[in-house]
Amino acid sequence: MPECTHLDQVTVPRPDRVAGCEDCLKIGGRWVHLRVCRSCGHIGCCDSSPNRHASAHAKASSHPIVTSVERGEDWSYCYIDDVMFELAGEGE
Ligand SMILES: [Zn+2]
Ligand SMILES: [Zn+2]
Ligand SMILES: [Zn+2]
Repeated sequence: MPECTHLDQVTVPRPDRVAGCEDCLKIGGRWVHLRVCRSCGHIGCCDSSPNRHASAHAKASSHPIVTSVERGEDWSYCYIDDVMFELAGEGE
C-alpha cells in the first residue's frame, strides 16, 4: 500500500470556512471544488475546475499535500506520492 512520506510538511490547519479559490477570485474565474494547501494555506480549485489552481500551486511551489475543504469530505492528497489518505484527527 502506497504511503505519503511528506506528512512533516503539513503545517497549516484545515480552515473551517473559505471564501473561494484565491486565484479564481483574482481573475474572476469559476471553480467546482476547493482544496487547501497544507504547507502554506493556499486555497485552490480542483482538477474538475477550468483553471485547476490547486494542482498548479502544488507544481509551482512543490507543496505536496492538499486537503479537501468541501463539506463532508475529510480526505487529503499528496501530489508527489499520488496517494489519498486521511490525516490523523480529521476523519469523521
Ligand atoms: Zn507524500
Ligand atoms: Zn481556481
Ligand atoms: Zn502551498
